[in-house]
Amino acid sequence: MALYVQKYGGTSVGSVERIKAVAEKVKKFKQQGHDIVVTVSAMSGETNRLITLAKEVQSIPSPREMDVLLSTGEQVTIALMSMALEQVGLKVRSYTGSQVKILTDSTHMKARIEDIDVQKIRSDLDAGAVVVVAGFQGADLAGNITTLGRGGSDTTGVALAAALKADECQIYTDVDGVYTTDPRVVEGARRLDEITFEEMLEMASLGSKILQIRAVEFAGKYKVPLRVLSSFVDGPGTLITIEDDDNVEKPEISGIAFNRDEAKLTVMGVPDIPGVASKILGPISEANIEVDMILQNVAEDQTTDFTFTVHRNDFDQALLILNNTAKALNAREVKGDNKIAKVSIVGVGMRSHAGVATKMFDALAAENINIQMISTSEIKISVVMAEKYLELAVRSLHSAFELGRKDSISE
Ligand code: ASP
Ligand code: MG
Repeated sequence: MALYVQKYGGTSVGSVERIKAVAEKVKKFKQQGHDIVVTVSAMSGETNRLITLAKEVQSIPSPREMDVLLSTGEQVTIALMSMALEQVGLKVRSYTGSQVKILTDSTHMKARIEDIDVQKIRSDLDAGAVVVVAGFQGADLAGNITTLGRGGSDTTGVALAAALKADECQIYTDVDGVYTTDPRVVEGARRLDEITFEEMLEMASLGSKILQIRAVEFAGKYKVPLRVLSSFVDGPGTLITIEDDDNVEKPEISGIAFNRDEAKLTVMGVPDIPGVASKILGPISEANIEVDMILQNVAEDQTTDFTFTVHRNDFDQALLILNNTAKALNAREVKGDNKIAKVSIVGVGMRSHAGVATKMFDALAAENINIQMISTSEIKISVVMAEKYLELAVRSLHSAFELGRKDSISE
C-alpha cells in the first residue's frame, strides 16, 4: 500500500467530463488499497479569465486582492472534484490551502510555502477518505490568502508529498511524460523513462514548460520521487530520479531544450578597464531586467565588445538603457537583435563523455548554422543562433545524438 499525491492540471480538470474521468482514475487507485491525496489546478482557462476580469476593473490591482480572486479558481475545482469522487462512492474531504493550513510567506502572487500542517489530512486518510486540496494557494501567518505563481499547483503537489512523506508525487498533465525534445518540432522525439532532477531543472529553466521550476527545485531538495504522466492515456510517464546512479552507462545527452524568448544586445568598443562590466549591467539589473548569457571578447586595442541576452519582452527597454550607458562610456556602437533563439543540449552524461561540444558544433556546421554565442555549464551547452534556424538546429542535433525512437524513420 502506498501513499500517492496526485496533481491534476488545468486541462485534466477542464470540463465536467474530465473531472468525472479523474474521479474514476482515483477510484481505481483506492480500490488497489492506496491512500490518495489529490491536488488540483483551476479548470483550464479559468486563471486567465480571472486575471482579465481584474484588469477590466483596475489597471494595477493590489496583489492581495489578486490572490483573493485567483484562489477561487482552484476552490471551484476542489468542490467539483469532491462531488465527483463522492458520486463514484468514495469518502472524500476537500480543503482550500488556508484550511489545510499551507503556510506561506507574504509575497502575494509568488508566495513560497514555509510549512504544511498535515494533521487533518492524516486523520482523513486514516479514516479512509480521499483528500482533495486546492493547488496554487496558501495563507500567510496573518491569514491572508496567497498564491504561488503561475503553474504553482505543481509546487503544492510536491510540497504535500514532501510533508506527508508520500511514496510518489504524480503530476498528471496533457502530455504522457518528458520528451527528448518538443515532439511538435521533432516527430521522432521520444518519451524518457527517467530523467534526473538536475537535467529536469535545466530543461525547465531552458523553456520546457512541463513542470514549474520551483516544483522541481523543491522535489530535488526534499528528495520527493516525482513522476510526470498523462491523465488522458495510461502509461508509465517519466520518473524524475533523485539519485544519479554512476554505475549506469549514460547517453551523451538526454534532451534538447530551446527558446525563442531571448534578445541579444552588444555594445562595441568599450574601454577594457576594470568596472566596465558592472557599469554596463548595473543599470540593466536596476531596471529589474534579467540577464541570461554574457560574453566579452579579448581586447586587442584597449577596447572590447560586450554582449548579453535578455528576455525578448525586455529588449526595447534594455536597448534604451544600453544606449545611455554607451554614451557615458564613450563606446563606439550599440547593436541589438531580437530575432535570435537559444538551443541547449542537456545531460548528466556530458560529465563522462568527451567531445560532446564538438559533436554539437559539427552537427550545426553541417547545416551551415552560424553560432553567435556559446555558454556551458557542467550538464548543459547552449548556443544562440538566428531564430530562423531553430527548428533545423533542433532536428539535426536530435539525430546527431541519436535521441530518436528506435523505430522512427522520420528523423
Ligand atoms: N491555476 C494556476 C495557473 O493557471 C496554477 C496552476 O495551474 O498550476 O497558473
Ligand atoms: Mg499547470
